[in-house]
Amino acid sequence: MSEVKEQEILSALRKVIDPDRGQDIVSLGMISGLATKGGHVAFAIEVDAERGPRLEPLRKAAEEAVMKLADVLTVSAVLTAERAPGQAQGHGHHDHGHSHDHGHGHGHGHGHGHGPKAAEQKLLPEVSTVIAVASGKGGVGKSTTAANLALAFKAMGLTVGMFDADVFGPSQPRLLGVAGAQPTSLDGQSMDPVDAWGLKVMSIGFLVPEDSPVVWRGPMVMGALEQLLRDVNWGKLDVLVVDMPPGTGDTQLTMTQKVPLTGAVIVSTPQDIALLDARKGLNMFRQVNVPVLGIIENMSTYHCPKCGHEAHIFGHGGARMEAARLSADFLGELPLDIDIRTTSDDGKPVVASRPDSPAAKAYMAIAAKVWDKVQVLQAAKKGPKIVMQ
Ligand code: ADP
Repeated sequence: MSEVKEQEILSALRKVIDPDRGQDIVSLGMISGLATKGGHVAFAIEVDAERGPRLEPLRKAAEEAVMKLADVLTVSAVLTAERAPGQAQGHGHHDHGHSHDHGHGHGHGHGHGHGPKAAEQKLLPEVSTVIAVASGKGGVGKSTTAANLALAFKAMGLTVGMFDADVFGPSQPRLLGVAGAQPTSLDGQSMDPVDAWGLKVMSIGFLVPEDSPVVWRGPMVMGALEQLLRDVNWGKLDVLVVDMPPGTGDTQLTMTQKVPLTGAVIVSTPQDIALLDARKGLNMFRQVNVPVLGIIENMSTYHCPKCGHEAHIFGHGGARMEAARLSADFLGELPLDIDIRTTSDDGKPVVASRPDSPAAKAYMAIAAKVWDKVQVLQAAKKGPKIVMQ
């Protein structure tokens, strides 16, 4: 794959006109931090904070313009606004090597009604990257995928946390084999996460008994989740995987705004695609300017363990087509595999317990792709402003 040339990308972006100023976004000096890697392109479009909410069509037009170039696989454009004076402090103590700017706009006041607040800026100060694993509805394998992706990041040598934000059905304790564990606290205020397979894990499931379902109301959920995120001694993490509550209601939307997400992956089954639930999930993140890293098709292909026959029980390939239609990246397919289910039931996810199995390799390949995209995105956000002569 030949690298896409910066000049070609800029030429494509010269066709995109700022609706308020009538000139193209390159000449206006709005493009910064253009980064490319193996066909993945990312850049930031700098806008005034108050214009942010209106400029989603501009962002989309910029992505589409670059997408038309040969050899471009994915494009992620993010709207950023200059920080107001005095807002940048509090980031200086990072030394992680990655971008610290995982708020990508949450602290920038890009105008979604949750402008820079000191408290929000301090949430997860030592976490370089926060990746949400989401789905349009329940039961598509979101939690299983989140657990295995987190373990795949760990296998890549990263320091990884898992935050189970699925308050409606917290399943990470069981999936990761630490059901019943109690987070310890030395000072009575902050909690140490539970260690599972080398991941730092926190789940609301550790704090409320599994058999007495809590009836959560929206504000309670947010309060509980925010407090949990804040009170956990995560330490330095390269990546925190967030197992999101399923669906696209108010709770989910608030989560996307409160947690400084770097990006989101959407898990869907072939049926889910048909029912357009995945599309709702994708739109929710776009609405709040959280980059969608891509779509994963789960329970895609069935390999009969006895005869080797391959069948597409729920249909197949829909996610790839739908991703293309929605200009989202297709991250890959995960097989419908009895090992994935049984290892999860036993609290020994397949990536940790059978790293050489085809299922584990499928998760590893997707994790590598996600991580590549995150690097490009973060390079784009901290990259230098492009000055055109
Ligand atoms: P969600 O978080 O979307 O509600 P879960 O991760 O809890 O979904 O998965 C629902 C069920 O499907 C679980 O029993 C899980 O073991 C099973 N499952 C998930 N992904 C696969 C897969 N690729 N192959 C086989 N079973 C799977």
